[in-house]
Amino acid sequence: MSYIKGDQKSFRLDHDVPSPFPRKVGDRVAVDERCQCWAPRSHHMDTVGYGHGACPPNECEKFSFRSFIFEPRVTTTGQGK
Ligand SMILES: [Zn+2]
Repeated sequence: MSYIKGDQKSFRLDHDVPSPFPRKVGDRVAVDERCQCWAPRSHHMDTVGYGHGACPPNECEKFSFRSFIFEPRVTTTGQGK
């Protein structure tokens, strides 16, 4: 994997470990996970597992789960949420 230094906007990570996302969580689809540092798991380095390592821009040493990031809920009524 390669880590390209830069700010969050230009931040890019090429993962060696395949992403487990999107994946079903209950009746919703998680597209990523939020770390305690607020960066998504996709912005963390790989260890043996996808995105379980450090997140250098946030000086985060190790991914620790805060919450799932779900894809926007799709409704047929157009009311959202
Ligand atoms: Zn983190």
